[in-house]
Amino acid sequence: MVTVGRVARWGGRLLAALGDDVRRFRATVGRRQSTEPTLRVYDLSFPHGRRRLHLRTAADGSAVLLVDATDAIHLNPTAAILTRLALESTPVDRAATLLRSRFRGVGRDTARSEADKVYALVDRLTSDTDSCPTCGLTDIEWSPPFSVPVSAPYKADVALTYRCNNACPHCYSQHRNNSLSALRAPLSPPQWHDVLRRLSEIGIPHVIFTGGEPTLVEGLEDLIRTAAGLGLVTGLNTNGRRLSERRFAASLRAAGLDHVQVTLESHRPEVHNAMTGADSFGQTNHGIHNALDEGLYTITNTTLTRKNIDHADKIVEYLHQLGMRTFAMNSMIYTGGGQTSDDAVSVERLAPVLADVRDCAAELRMRFLWYTPTEYCRLSPVELELGPRRCNAGEYSICIEPNGDILPCQSYYVPAGNLLRDPWEHIWQSELFGSFRRRVSDPRGAGLPERCWSCPDLAVCAGGCRIEREHLRKAIDCKATFLSSAASDDGKAVSPRG
Ligand code: SF4
Ligand code: SF4
Repeated sequence: MVTVGRVARWGGRLLAALGDDVRRFRATVGRRQSTEPTLRVYDLSFPHGRRRLHLRTAADGSAVLLVDATDAIHLNPTAAILTRLALESTPVDRAATLLRSRFRGVGRDTARSEADKVYALVDRLTSDTDSCPTCGLTDIEWSPPFSVPVSAPYKADVALTYRCNNACPHCYSQHRNNSLSALRAPLSPPQWHDVLRRLSEIGIPHVIFTGGEPTLVEGLEDLIRTAAGLGLVTGLNTNGRRLSERRFAASLRAAGLDHVQVTLESHRPEVHNAMTGADSFGQTNHGIHNALDEGLYTITNTTLTRKNIDHADKIVEYLHQLGMRTFAMNSMIYTGGGQTSDDAVSVERLAPVLADVRDCAAELRMRFLWYTPTEYCRLSPVELELGPRRCNAGEYSICIEPNGDILPCQSYYVPAGNLLRDPWEHIWQSELFGSFRRRVSDPRGAGLPERCWSCPDLAVCAGGCRIEREHLRKAIDCKATFLSSAASDDGKAVSPRG
């Protein structure tokens, strides 16, 4: 069986090759000692661009084929074998023969037709085409979004530092620089290279350098070069200020950087500067121009708060004028500075703004990515036609902190271990990561509120953002404590003395 799905939507499709016969596969080739998946990279160059395929094989022989780290095709063991043979240009009749020798009782015609099916898929994925290579695939069965379990994440955010040349009041990593965990020795440059190699060994095909502000770290280009040399898709999340140095932008491109996301909070300089706590508008804009001129795949991200929500549609028009064709937006994350900021807007207020932004983007033929996973019963991204959006922490995505600690996501500051010190299996199977991955199969055990347990949207919502839920719970607990202590103070005031 083969499953296809867009990683962005975490959907899936299924294509069968000889059925899902894991037991026969094990009987033939035995079980690998390591439970870590194996990552193989196929880098394709075309006259007008490049495509990367990652074939990640799990210990049970099943695999996932990732197309440019955005589309996931899940493969059962037999399909995994055929896919590898096809990607390595083994003639199809030879592949059919190999299949028969490995799986007893498979007829010649069956083996050939299964091989033809997988080879046709691989042929399509490896052909030069302007259109989406995974769209309109036939012979493939859809599986519901987020329904296929993963053996390792698809993406790692690599927070190289928590230092920053901006000071956004709502920043989720604000305060983290002084936290106990971050005060432990940050990794040295050689250790960061080890981190990248380790991520590749674990089978994670996509890394995003982030922070803090990652462009403040000496040797960023070398890290990008190492990641690219390992065949990983590389991205950079930045405030864009250092990209205003054209030579620096060019050096990132030359090192092999695949994509950049620049934070731009508003087209109004005074709003952008207020939201970034620095006189940064000019450099950020210049940086965006340089990134685009260098041919880097560039998008922007904007956090919607009380300061910019009234002109969100004008920001979209401005981005279009800048030459941007894809942009992202998110809402406040309730951690770091976001915990105490008064600038958060409610999802009820967000909904009509998101509809306007969506329409504005459609009119300008732009692609709008809405990042924030919300509780569907309050704001459904599906009803807003923004596509399914679900928290991917500890499951499809992880974050490495500046000292090598591993977080479920970049904003949930509870480590599950350290990438360079602890076995990956312990981290991946930790109670913390497990509680993120069990949200749908065991919502009660994973700490979701009772209203979620039998909710029809649970699979795509997973209860929204855990940080927001814990933030609200804390606020309610604080209020309750305050009220009860106020009541007992009142009680004391009327108590007779002595
Ligand atoms: S899973 Fe929970 S938060 Fe999500 S829509 Fe259902 S009740 Fe709301
Ligand atoms: S817990 Fe999930 S939804 Fe919340 S910030 Fe982290 S990744 Fe996003």
